[in-house]
Amino acid sequence: MEFNIALLRGDGIGPEIVDSAVEVLKKTAEKFGHKFNFTPYLIGGAAIDETGVPLPQETIDGCLASDSVLLGSVGGPKWDSQPPANRPEKGLLGIRAALELFTNLRPAKLYPTLKDASPLRSDIAENGFDIMIVRELTGGIYFGERGRREGKYGEEAYDTECYSRMEIERIAKVAFETAMKRNKNIISIDKSNVLESSRLWREVVHEMAKDYPEVTLTDMLVDNAAMQLVKNPAQFDVVVTSNMFGDILSDEASQITGSIGMLPSASLGATTRGMYEPIHGSAPDIAGQNVANPIATILSASMMLKFSFNLTAEADAIDAAVDKFLEQGYRTADLVGSTGVKPLSTTEVTAKILELL
Ligand code: NAD
Repeated sequence: MEFNIALLRGDGIGPEIVDSAVEVLKKTAEKFGHKFNFTPYLIGGAAIDETGVPLPQETIDGCLASDSVLLGSVGGPKWDSQPPANRPEKGLLGIRAALELFTNLRPAKLYPTLKDASPLRSDIAENGFDIMIVRELTGGIYFGERGRREGKYGEEAYDTECYSRMEIERIAKVAFETAMKRNKNIISIDKSNVLESSRLWREVVHEMAKDYPEVTLTDMLVDNAAMQLVKNPAQFDVVVTSNMFGDILSDEASQITGSIGMLPSASLGATTRGMYEPIHGSAPDIAGQNVANPIATILSASMMLKFSFNLTAEADAIDAAVDKFLEQGYRTADLVGSTGVKPLSTTEVTAKILELL
């Protein structure tokens, strides 16, 4: 099969890690008989330097014309003095909006070989975990009506959590479809003991569950979920939740894996086109030194194959190569800790993973 992939390398370590993932995608295409065409576009600080704006129209058009988008990261101290409307992050928010990406998929997996990196107590980390957080990305309180007004106690500010049946249905559908490809287990997180928007959330998710009789659905209140994530993370398979709860819980989940350089993400809309990116930032402190861990971006590319191109065997092959890389004891600088292992450079990691593919 043939696919067109837009590359948004961005800033800092972005170009190094995207180039690494492209090598892995090329090798996968060769191995399985596919053709991937790559076209780079500017975003973030790099785009400001070249064109004056963080998201040139050419980038939007190119991404819309592609089958999927692979992003590195944006931002860095060089552009910190830009006015708020022209900061590199505006490019990121702009491209998410232009591609109408309403779902954020964030896996948080504790690799058995990296258990020591987790801040969890060893008897909890021992059980490992592999969670897929499905977060609603374009609704809820971050996009609801807000403002300032005179209230009972003087000046007050308000934000509104609002969800429509349609918005809940479409994110729930993604969660159920995702669960069908995994262990068929969903925990839906809300605050239905207090919030009306959560009561509608729960109602709609349960209605949708009728279409997926094989999936086990459990409800959990968000305060309990925050505790359960550190107490017994192994109980979670797929988590579906609103924009704000997902924002907070997905950061908590990523932290308990202990390895920011390992975690990929996907943002999806109504079409198969998605945007795939590591969860970490542009790491300006190590940019250009060939020491960044490219695995989060390589795993983001694997998610692209699975979720946008339906190439599951190909994605599994990449994931297996990463597993073998870790099992064989290879490490990047961010994973070495106090092990005394000599870390591999970005290009050495890439070469090793290509060899293991
Ligand atoms: P960061 O994630 O860039 O870095 C935090 C720490 O983790 C740094 O010490 C960094 O060296 C390390 N790190 C991150 N990724 C790594 C990797 N792949 N391999 C090895 N080490 C890695 O977060 P920050 O320092 O808060 O932000 C730096 C810049 O990135 C800021 O301009 C911020 O706005 C931007 N940012 C961008 C995104 C994005 O593009 N999606 C996300 C977060 C932050």
